[in-house]
Amino acid sequence: MPSSYWKIPLFDLDYDDEEIQAATVVLKSKWLSMGPQVEAFELEFAKAMGVRHAIAVSNASSALYLSLLAVGARDGAEVIQPAMNFVAAANMTRAVRAIPVFADILSLEKPTISPEEIRRKITPNTKAVIVMHYGGYPCRMAEIVEICKEQRIALIEDACHAIGARYLDSEKKVPHGSYVGGCSDIGCFSFYSNKNLAVGEGGMIVTDRDDLVEPLRRMRCHGMTQFVWDRHAGADYYDIVSEGFNFRFDEVRAAMGRIQLRKLAEKNKKRGELTRRYREGLSHQDRFTVVYQNYSGDSSYHLMSLVAASIEDRMRLVRHLKEAGVQTTLHYPCLSDLTSFKDHDSNLTPVSRDFGRGVVVVPLFPAMTFEQVDWICDLICSTPRSTL
Ligand SMILES: *Cc1c(COP(=O)(O)O)cnc(C)c1O
Repeated sequence: MPSSYWKIPLFDLDYDDEEIQAATVVLKSKWLSMGPQVEAFELEFAKAMGVRHAIAVSNASSALYLSLLAVGARDGAEVIQPAMNFVAAANMTRAVRAIPVFADILSLEKPTISPEEIRRKITPNTKAVIVMHYGGYPCRMAEIVEICKEQRIALIEDACHAIGARYLDSEKKVPHGSYVGGCSDIGCFSFYSNKNLAVGEGGMIVTDRDDLVEPLRRMRCHGMTQFVWDRHAGADYYDIVSEGFNFRFDEVRAAMGRIQLRKLAEKNKKRGELTRRYREGLSHQDRFTVVYQNYSGDSSYHLMSLVAASIEDRMRLVRHLKEAGVQTTLHYPCLSDLTSFKDHDSNLTPVSRDFGRGVVVVPLFPAMTFEQVDWICDLICSTPRSTL
């Protein structure tokens, strides 16, 4: 379906002359692979997220992969993670030959991992927990941090939806106002095209743990003791001291990312205003569960999601919106409903199962207008009840 087909697309890339200018400056400099732009982006990103270190990588999947290796979650270790997530965390868990253990989410309205479920799934073999801040809404981090500290389990945040979101529940374990991604051992971000900060492809690892930085940087670049920029500057020796990969980021995208980072807070604010408009417009219906309908904390407002009570009702809504020219998608099918994870029983995570069968994601991007939101809300409320 060409994007021009849609009256209102799901999302719209949001960049202007500033990004184009920044990319052009890099192209003219004739240094394209990892260099001073990447370094500056890392420093600015770390500062913006209130963390000690940021390591730019090729995408969030490689960020998750390196994070698992860095905390030693590999080779038969169990990694507890939500059954309601994009497949990257589970795929990367398998890629390091560890075992994904799926935990259920809190509710259809609050689709983040349940702390009680984490507790229930812990075994002597559990090495790490991966949480995912669905739609940009922070997980119950204070409780989860406490569980992981008490059980000496590493905690990794898949913060791909939640760039710029802050954790506001005031608790000792996680300081009030901490940026999501910086509430645990390691946070992973994505700069894929449909994310709040988008450069096409890209990722970032953040951490406050000094001990993880050198291994992460080394594995990003072939297990090498010298980095590419140093080498260009004239290092005359390098050693390979561990396994490694090429998960480097590059200068053009780093330059674009630096501009996008400066615009992030303003764009997230705009998403928040649109989200509140949606909530208002959908508050008089109870056919579809509006995800985070009654939420007052902070968020990056990445997704606007609704949950239908059945697959059939979900399809009625999708078809109704499609006929009007409104694009939708589904984030996500429950992982254990996917062929590759058939060895997991989705009945063991019933809330994730029902969420995955009913979820519909509707358009949300900073350049949307209130009129567009109102129109979509009217369409949602007039979805036919039966298909004749
Ligand atoms: C986008 C996304 C990823 C993967 O990010 P890539 O940069 O495309 O590898 C992982 N987890 C979640 C929750 C995402 O939304």
